[in-house]
Amino acid sequence: MMNAFLKILFPEACPVCRQPSTCHKTAPICRDCWEGIAPYRGPLCRTCGKPLVSEESINCGDCLKEEPAFTWARSYGLYEGTLRVAVNLFKYYRIKRLSLPLSEMVCKITIPCADAIIPVPLFKKKIRQREFNQSALLAKHFSDNTGAALILNCISRDKETMPQVGLNARERRKNVRNAFRITNEHLIEDKNVILVDDVFTTGATMRECSKMLKKAGAGNIYGVTIAHSSWDS
Ligand SMILES: [Zn+2]
Ligand SMILES: [Zn+2]
Repeated sequence: MMNAFLKILFPEACPVCRQPSTCHKTAPICRDCWEGIAPYRGPLCRTCGKPLVSEESINCGDCLKEEPAFTWARSYGLYEGTLRVAVNLFKYYRIKRLSLPLSEMVCKITIPCADAIIPVPLFKKKIRQREFNQSALLAKHFSDNTGAALILNCISRDKETMPQVGLNARERRKNVRNAFRITNEHLIEDKNVILVDDVFTTGATMRECSKMLKKAGAGNIYGVTIAHSSWDS
């Protein structure tokens, strides 16, 4: 009876538990499901943050093979369960409202003092298709929260890359190679930078972007994302 009544008031059903979602901030995901999203606290690569199966290793295979240009990268949680649904609703279904509660998660990552917040850029045509760069929205909230300057015009993505979904680690690296171009070096010279993206899969995008920023004279680079999507294998 109560449920039927709530359904009239709040017609949207939570995609996770199918109950009416009465929380505007996180809708269509309900408050209970949202509050059930937990940060990842298991073993991880100290450099790129990739979840590891045991506490014994310090770095993942990728970082041992090639040290990234970023100092470290971290995610709030794992790209699974409710968090995966939330990221996909935000990224592919363009539910912009979720940028705020998702960025609140990113803000929980402990980061050192930084001078600049930079979102991983999207190829221009992709921005038009999607109407927004999800990383830029996250970065905006992140900048409001930390007080570090949001810089949107220092790096651009000139090469149209294939979607990384479905590509293996080697293909992903190749796909993003030379995809980015620094447009305003002076904005990042000697600056400590926080690079923001939505999901960290193999880290190919974050690595390539950091490499370009470092080449252009950036100081320390820290990568933050909402979720890590793969385990070290
Ligand atoms: Zn729910
Ligand atoms: Zn690693």
